[in-house]
Amino acid sequence: MTENPHFPLMLAPLKLRHNELKNRVIMGAMHTRLENAPDGAKRLSKFYAERAKGGVGLIITGGYAPNVAGHLEMNGPLLNERAQIKDHQIVTNAVHEAGGKIFLQILHAGRYGGTLKTVAPSAIRAPISPLTPKALEPAQVEQTIADFSTCAQLANEAGYDGVEIMGSEGYLINQFTAARTNQRDDKWGGSVENRHRFPLAIVRTIRAETPDEFIIMYRISSLELVEDGATANDIISLAKDIEQAGADILSTGIGWHEARIPTIAYMVPRGTWSFAAKRIKEAVNIPVVVSNRLNTPETVEKVLRDGHGDLAYLARPLLADPDFVNKAAAGERDQINICIACNQACLDYIFKAKAATCLVNPRAGHEADLQITAAEQPKRIAVIGGGAAGMAAASIAGARGHSVTLFEANDELGGQLQLARKVPRKDEFDETLRYFKNQLDTHNVDIKTGVAASVQMIMDENFDEIIIATGVSPRQIEMDGIDHASVVSYPQILSGEKICGNNVAIIGAGGIGFDVADFLSALESDDRTPQAFLKDWGVDQGLEVKGGLSPQGPSLEQSPRQITLLQRTSGKPGRSLGFTTGWALKKALKRRGVNILTGVTYERISDEGLHIVMDGEQSIIAADTIVICAGQESRTSLHEELSMAGVSTHIIGGAAKAGELDALRAISQGYNMALSL
Ligand code: NAP
Ligand code: SF4
Repeated sequence: MTENPHFPLMLAPLKLRHNELKNRVIMGAMHTRLENAPDGAKRLSKFYAERAKGGVGLIITGGYAPNVAGHLEMNGPLLNERAQIKDHQIVTNAVHEAGGKIFLQILHAGRYGGTLKTVAPSAIRAPISPLTPKALEPAQVEQTIADFSTCAQLANEAGYDGVEIMGSEGYLINQFTAARTNQRDDKWGGSVENRHRFPLAIVRTIRAETPDEFIIMYRISSLELVEDGATANDIISLAKDIEQAGADILSTGIGWHEARIPTIAYMVPRGTWSFAAKRIKEAVNIPVVVSNRLNTPETVEKVLRDGHGDLAYLARPLLADPDFVNKAAAGERDQINICIACNQACLDYIFKAKAATCLVNPRAGHEADLQITAAEQPKRIAVIGGGAAGMAAASIAGARGHSVTLFEANDELGGQLQLARKVPRKDEFDETLRYFKNQLDTHNVDIKTGVAASVQMIMDENFDEIIIATGVSPRQIEMDGIDHASVVSYPQILSGEKICGNNVAIIGAGGIGFDVADFLSALESDDRTPQAFLKDWGVDQGLEVKGGLSPQGPSLEQSPRQITLLQRTSGKPGRSLGFTTGWALKKALKRRGVNILTGVTYERISDEGLHIVMDGEQSIIAADTIVICAGQESRTSLHEELSMAGVSTHIIGGAAKAGELDALRAISQGYNMALSL
């Protein structure tokens, strides 16, 4: 087979047992909440088949428990009876017909389980769970091993090409292997050898009880990031033994869910964790899979070229673009919709009990019902406003064959995304801007930047449909002294129009207040390399210390400015931040010494600074710069003027509703609006 000229290592085939994967990209396991949704099998089959058609070498399902004690939550995905196979066959047939391969992931939650049946090696509660698990009796340990094997046999009958055994991220198997969670004094606990007995028994039993061609992947914890976790020696010895026990391939997991170091959020540089897979690759003779923050084909190609692994495990990037692999192979890298690691519509949705989708691709998870079909009657459409909502609406309308004109008053497209990309670790938004601009070009959208559309201009053109996506303006607030020279708006700061002094007060601790605090507290010499990230967060790469937490802990990186972030409400600050990313941002700001005050009343602004009252006491924050981050208001004037002139319009994004505006809602509204015309 000839080598692909664009990404030769990523696109090289790989022999695996009696099978061959067509390339090195694995769509990693990700719970979608479609698993148990009404019509879930049909939706999942469309979801996975689209990724298989998009060229991915192998798909791993979200985790299925092998018994009810292993449930992550009540009535979660479970494969323990033959009656359940029928639905799985809908999925496996669809993937195979699309030319793909698919494994079922077997995941026993152990003490991360969310039901009263939760069990673990020892009765030790996880810091992120309210439930104390029951310790498994020896006979129950044996039964659990048998249940793993039954689950794998059912997976084989259901047409899966193999299974992935979830042995990392702090779930049951990992709880057996780590001294921190395994305090048993029988043959399943104590020495490293005893603690490794449980996963080895699972792999051996599955190998013995499934056909020879069935592939076994084991997800090994390659860096635990928790106290009293595994050392490098423990991990290497487990990897070798798992190979001997009959696994065909090792995927690698990073960090337990209870770890307090971000592993996949946007602040983690691309490719940060591949070093941990390399240690395992050097010790075994079976293929090793690198994972976490591999969101572009270049990153994948680099970790493979550096010899850190043989394949790459990408979950969220395949939500963002099902055609990731085919586009890379065809030399169309610039048409890939890249995952920006925001977690907003995937992981955060899962935690809110909603089905996963994607901020940059609202179609993810809705493949069965959201089709970009050719318009029955092509129309002339004006989209006014080239931010996230306007760009999404214009590109999808163009893709459907409408003739679209996009007006943007600024010289550049992007709206609020142009500000978001300035936040230190949010430059992944550059990829989103690049993607939408290329989509607009591809679909022949007539882009008019630097043109503030007027009522007359719109009426003269006689468009069939007009979409108003004029976005938001920062909210102006009332206060004595608000016109003082020290007061600036967040767009002035993020755009670089105004420079902050050394002592800054930020009014408003919402998403943007936190982002501005991040922007202002980062060192100018901010080093964004993986090495700097690992040092900042206190990761011991050599893994000489158990769990890989360096004894020095995270480095204290004092902000170059004194920063106070304020809010009027007395609740916990940062409640509007993403569930799976906000904690890490708060931790980073704490490390840099950003001071957060809640329950504040603003009195006035003077030459002395910001006068406040807190707990009945008056005080002054001697700020030389006061940044207003008090939310936004919709820009609706054009909409109102057109209405008054009798012109009907559609209004989307921040122009329709400024509260809780974010790129997620904006893109999704633009997308849906274009599909409705
Ligand atoms: P926001 O989250 O609504 O926060 C604005 C804050 O300003 C409010 O929390 C409010 O806090 C304060 N405020 C409102 N009116 C005020 C007034 N008249 N005077 C003084 N303070 C006032 O808005 P945002 O920060 O602009 O963010 C916009 C949207 O983007 C939100 O949905 C946000 O979640 C999202 N976003 C998220 C992130 C992230 O997750 N990292 C980052 C950026 C943006 P008090 O009333 O308590 O003072
Ligand atoms: Fe990636 Fe964000 Fe989409 Fe999740 S929602 S897949 S993190 S871009």
